[in-house]
Parts: sequence; C-alpha cells; structure tokens
Amino acid sequence: MNRIADLTEKNTFQTYSRYPVTLVRGKGSRVWDDNGKEYLDFLSGIAVCNLGHCHPAVVKAAQAQLEKLIHVSNFFYTEPQAELAELLADNSFADKIFFCNSGAEANEAAIKLARKYEHEHADPNRFEIITMGGSFHGRTFATLSATGQKKFQKGFEPLLPGFQHVAFNDIDALKEVVTDFTSAIMLEPIQGEGGVNIPSVKFMKEVRQLCDEKDILLIFDEVQVGMGRTGKLFAYEHFGVEPDIMTLAKALAGGFPAGAMLAGKKIAESFSPGTHASTFGGNPVVMAAGVAVMRELISTDVLDNCLEMGRHFCAKLNNLKEEYPGIIKEIRGKGLIVGVELNIDGKEIVKSCLNRGLIINCTCDTILRFLPPINVMKEDIDGCFNVLESVFKEGL
Ligand SMILES: *Cc1c(COP(=O)(O)O)cnc(C)c1O
Repeated sequence: MNRIADLTEKNTFQTYSRYPVTLVRGKGSRVWDDNGKEYLDFLSGIAVCNLGHCHPAVVKAAQAQLEKLIHVSNFFYTEPQAELAELLADNSFADKIFFCNSGAEANEAAIKLARKYEHEHADPNRFEIITMGGSFHGRTFATLSATGQKKFQKGFEPLLPGFQHVAFNDIDALKEVVTDFTSAIMLEPIQGEGGVNIPSVKFMKEVRQLCDEKDILLIFDEVQVGMGRTGKLFAYEHFGVEPDIMTLAKALAGGFPAGAMLAGKKIAESFSPGTHASTFGGNPVVMAAGVAVMRELISTDVLDNCLEMGRHFCAKLNNLKEEYPGIIKEIRGKGLIVGVELNIDGKEIVKSCLNRGLIINCTCDTILRFLPPINVMKEDIDGCFNVLESVFKEGL
C-alpha cells in the first residue's frame, strides 16, 4: 500500500471498503491514478459526474464564482441560486425549489414537507409514508427508515416510526397498505442501489391515480436518475406521470455537493420562514456549477446521445448474454443507467475490470451497474464492452 492509502486507513472511519487505487486527475470519461495508469470511468462517482470529469463549462462557471463570492447565508439573495431555481422550475413540473447539499438531505426535506403539509391540510395523525422494497433513500434516520432494505438498517434500531415498505412495481400490494393515515408514497422512478429496477408505465400511472383518489402526496426520489441520466432531464418523463414532490442531488452540480427538493406552489407553502433551512444549501459556487450543468443538459444534444449510447450498449450486452446464458440473467437499462444481473457474485468481475483499467460497480452482490458520463462517445462504450467481454472470455 502507498502512503495515501495507509494514512486514509489509519485516520478515517472504516465506513468504505476501498480499492487499492489513489485517483489524482480526471477528464471526460477518464481518470488517472498516482502511477499514471488510465481508467475508463463507467461509474462517474456514482452518477455524479454526468457530464464527465472536470467538464469545461462546469470548471469555468465555478472558477468565476470562486473569485467573486464563495459563501453567504441564506438571509441574502445570490444570482447563481436564483438562476438555478429558475432553470429547474422552468424545466420541471415544479414551481418551488429548496436547496441543500446531498440526496439524504433532499429526501429528509421531502419527508418533513409531507408531514407539515398533512398537519396543515388534513390530520396530524396522517404521517405514514409508504416506500418500496429494494429502495434506497439515504443514511440519515428518516431516509434510512424510508429505505426498503434491511441491510442498511441493521443495528440502528429503533428507526423513525411511520414508514411502511411494499414490493416495488406491484399496485395491488400498494393498495393493500394504504390507510387513512397514509400521507405520501415515495419511490425512485428507477431504483439505482436496488439493482436498476425499472417499473412498468402502467404501475407508475396507477400509483399516480391512487394518490389522486386518496389525496396522497407522490414523492419521486430522482437523486440518482434525474439530471439526464436516463436520457430525459428527469426520469418521470419516461412514464408520463408527474410527482407532487421530487428530490435531486448527485449530478445536480457536476461534482459539487448539492441537493434539491422541488414541489408545486401549494405544497411548497407549507414550508414558511423558519420551518426548514440549510447553512450551505444554495451555496453560490455550487449553484453556479449547477447552472452550467442545466444549460448543458437543455441546450445541447447530450440527452439524445444518452439515449442512443444506452441503446447501443444494451444491444451489445444482450449479445453477450446470448453467449453466456448461464451467467447473465438479465440486461436492464434506461439511457445510461444500465444493470447486468448475473447468476454469480459480481465482485470479482468488478476487480478484473479495474485491473484492466475499467471502473464499474456491483450492487446487491449480483448486479453489475454501469453509469458512464451521458456525453460518452461510442468508442468508449465499445472500449468498456471489450474489457467486459475479455473478462468473461478469460474465465470467471
Ligand atoms: C445516492 C442516493 C441517495 C443518497 O444521497 P446522498 O447524497 O449520499 O445522501 C438517496 N436516494 C437515491 C435514489 C440515491 O441514489
């Protein structure tokens, strides 16, 4: 091990199992380690660097803002926050945006808003939120309680009361757990950490209908699949269904820590001055980077590229599946969030890819997940595929 790895292991909490690689530089879909070895990055910091590493527009916007003003409190207005809020409102279902710093914080805000809204409009006892099995919403107590995977909750009980989990993509199961105390249904339009699970359009429409009939809020967690990842600006656009509240983070500011909660005007009014806040939320440098990201997403052909590259990649992967039917169970993808479900543990495949200069990820033990930059070029998709194919060929 080298000095940096040693120091990190010695002095930081052991919350991550890291690869023995120290990264020092990134550009587009590539990163380099401290030995000068080049890697093709098909993880993008877990769907954060959607425009690739150090995108010139993001670098320029952040640098310019850094020289002007780094931070002020939210007692004051700043131009970058105003601009990003307008861009998000103009290009989504929402009227109002609350800025924070991470996905968990955005979901925490959404959960608080749902409760506050019900306190004001219905009944303080109406605080239950139904979430999906296999979901991931974050690591704070509310978002951990919302998360529908026991493995993340173990040892932290008692959890926050008021959460129920039902099977994803099953409208009958969902209808069964809705009661007079249900305030909201919260789900990822496509589950990321849960293994790239894509619900049917029918399910999503039925959930919306159920929420309308029972006056229940619908919350979409687009922390991973928003901001162009699926080939649309927001994943809900694929389903023709709009939420009442949506959360964003990961790719929102091109690599800077940012989160946002979005809602319609009436619901947003339940957060009045003093009810919720964040010291760093809406930080000018972060917001300036976010403005650059949004402009890139709405005024270039990057979303079309994402859809086209996603189709190209999935077609190749389906050919690989034909060749290895015993090992590859299913290919799932929307734009450039792609999952390859295996019949075997994926950990060794990820390691072999890393040795060959390809960074990918494995979630839920058996699902290889690919999250390349959405402006990735065809050569790099093919490059990734060739590495993967050689790993399969040379024995698993
Ligand atoms: C990553 C993720 C979160 C948590 O975001 P953090 O920034 O790590 O708090 C929440 N929801 C989804 C869907 C995610 O993918």
